[in-house]
Amino acid sequence: KPVTTDMKTLTEEIGKFAEDKKVEIDTLKIREEYRKDFLGNVSHELKTPLFTVQGYILTLLDGAIKDSKVNEKYLKRANKGVERLIYIVKDLDMITKLEAGDLSLEKEEFDIIELIHNVFELLEMRAAKNEISLTFDMEYDEPIYVMGDSEKIQQVLTNLLVNSIKYGHPNGTTEVSVENLIKNKVIVRVTDNGEGIPKHHIPRLFERFYRVDQSGSRKEGGSGLGLAIVKHIIEAHDEKIYVESEVDVGSEFSFTLEKTSNKTL
Ligand code: ADP
Repeated sequence: KPVTTDMKTLTEEIGKFAEDKKVEIDTLKIREEYRKDFLGNVSHELKTPLFTVQGYILTLLDGAIKDSKVNEKYLKRANKGVERLIYIVKDLDMITKLEAGDLSLEKEEFDIIELIHNVFELLEMRAAKNEISLTFDMEYDEPIYVMGDSEKIQQVLTNLLVNSIKYGHPNGTTEVSVENLIKNKVIVRVTDNGEGIPKHHIPRLFERFYRVDQSGSRKEGGSGLGLAIVKHIIEAHDEKIYVESEVDVGSEFSFTLEKTSNKTL
């Protein structure tokens, strides 16, 4: 069959085809890098608690099981390690769904003040253990109705408060407040007077697995996913998250929400 296409058109078409294929390959390469990077981080995060749990089990098998005082202590520690693994796996599940856009929001109107009180109650013991007091800084304790997925906003507040407890100094305080921002927006602030974050770390703080102290030797390690989850949830709501921090002074994480009531604060 005779080819009638002139040389110029043909060259252009071949060029375009090659360009399309290159883009496709580039995208695949990025995805592959991302996958490798993710899996590498996951196995790294799981390794430490797994080895810790194995350590206790091996000590028990080695004879410690015969000593009733010691065996209870080791079993409890092994259980702590397993609990930590469960937290990490739950966070991994959440971040995978959030990054894939697979987690739909169930938006409803809810009282953000009530939600803050609930989260305080859930974290009271944990805060007391680290000698941190949780305070609520509001002039009036009246309901403020906002629009959002209350379960996910609860997760946001929990992650921010848990961090302020983990990275707070003993006898420190974490304060939560809600303020009017513009006519239909409120801003929720979580302020601590803990260890703070060096300036150069701040731009990367919300990346998954990013930690200021990479050594992993913190006594209360998390999954390194807490803030990545927070950012995804807030952005899925089309809202904004901010952070301000100074070493040895403290940190303030704040996020906006859509207000549905016209009550003045
Ligand atoms: P992690 O599980 O390590 O706490 P996050 O994603 O929640 O992971 O936080 C990332 C890092 O940001 C933490 O490892 C910590 O170094 C720093 N960070 C987060 N919140 C605070 C805070 N309130 N004060 C000081 N550092 C913080």
